[in-house]
Amino acid sequence: MASKTLKIAVVPGDGIGVEVMPYGVRCLQAVAQKFNLSLEFEHFNFASCDYYEKHGDMMPADWKEKLSKFDAIYFGAVGMPDQVPDNVSLWGSLLKFRREFDQYINLRPCRLMPGVKSPLAGRKPGDIDFWIVRENTEGEYSSVGGTMFEGTERETVIQETIMTRVGVDRVLRYAFDLAASRPRKKLTSATKSNGISITMPYWDSRVREMHKQFPDVAVEQYHIDILTAHFVQRPDSFDVVVGSNLFGDILSDLGPACTGTIGIAPSGNINPSGEFPSLFEPVHGSAPDIFGKGIANPVGMIWAGQMMLHHFGFTEAAAAMLSAIENVLARADLEIMTADMGGRGNTQSLGEAVEKEILATK
Ligand code: ATP
Ligand code: MG
Repeated sequence: MASKTLKIAVVPGDGIGVEVMPYGVRCLQAVAQKFNLSLEFEHFNFASCDYYEKHGDMMPADWKEKLSKFDAIYFGAVGMPDQVPDNVSLWGSLLKFRREFDQYINLRPCRLMPGVKSPLAGRKPGDIDFWIVRENTEGEYSSVGGTMFEGTERETVIQETIMTRVGVDRVLRYAFDLAASRPRKKLTSATKSNGISITMPYWDSRVREMHKQFPDVAVEQYHIDILTAHFVQRPDSFDVVVGSNLFGDILSDLGPACTGTIGIAPSGNINPSGEFPSLFEPVHGSAPDIFGKGIANPVGMIWAGQMMLHHFGFTEAAAAMLSAIENVLARADLEIMTADMGGRGNTQSLGEAVEKEILATK
């Protein structure tokens, strides 16, 4: 992939997504210039609440056709609850991308960056550096179930967890592959087989089966409850952590929370086969409370762009981009840093500092 043109659909969305996106694109353009990469950007104004107000829908009918020809969607954030209810905006855009483009991997780095204070006492950059791989399409988040004896004393509600062999194996394969590519080669699987007695032991059995194909990878399995405690007490012991839709969801909020502000964390929604585009976005939402002030931290957006380059095999450029982010954060210049990091700077000062640092890469 690294020699071809990477086609990127830029979808800023709502709120601070619109404010941080220009710096994400500028940083990608800077790294493309530096490393002679061919990146093609096309901007789209749908998947936003403004679009909804004009058209009565979050996206045009042919959105899938429009976006299918891209390798990646570079996504800002969606949702302005004062304009459109969150369930309408989210289900009408981001969740459609995830489902229709079969982005069955949700990937998040947990990496303590220099200049960022972890809420965990005594942790330094380098101490926390692992990946969370979440199953993104099935599991606990099914809509199968219902209510019986409604309105009576026997009222009973049931919601099913669905695990398919294809669905479990494909996320495990991705996680094993990722672990095998890293120096520590360690995979931690999150289940709860002592309490959830059918689906979770099944997941464990598929881990054991898949492990046979990756003998170099060390595997450990924890119940989700004790694993959350370990995230806080010894985050340095993890390398790649894999979990079902629900457990991965919980861990992928807890992990980045251990590494400082939500404003810098990125995430990928990945279709590994490349049959459909993958989507890269900051972890944060549209942050209506700070929208319009120009003070949003742009690093989550920029780092999501870095993940995108890494995913498509532009490893050298991606490494340089990550170093540039780290160098700027490490300087901890309060005139440049945004308020969420204790600084007096704004989106522009921090975004341009990273861009400049990329351009200064040797
Ligand atoms: P989602 O839309 O993903 O459900 P949310 O609406 O619950 O998320 P966010 O929009 O991420 O939450 O905002 C949560 C808090 O974090 C807000 O107070 C917001 O101002 C702050 N925040 C989010 N992103 C940033 C950022 N990039 N820079 C500074 N502060 C941020
Ligand atoms: Mg929101």
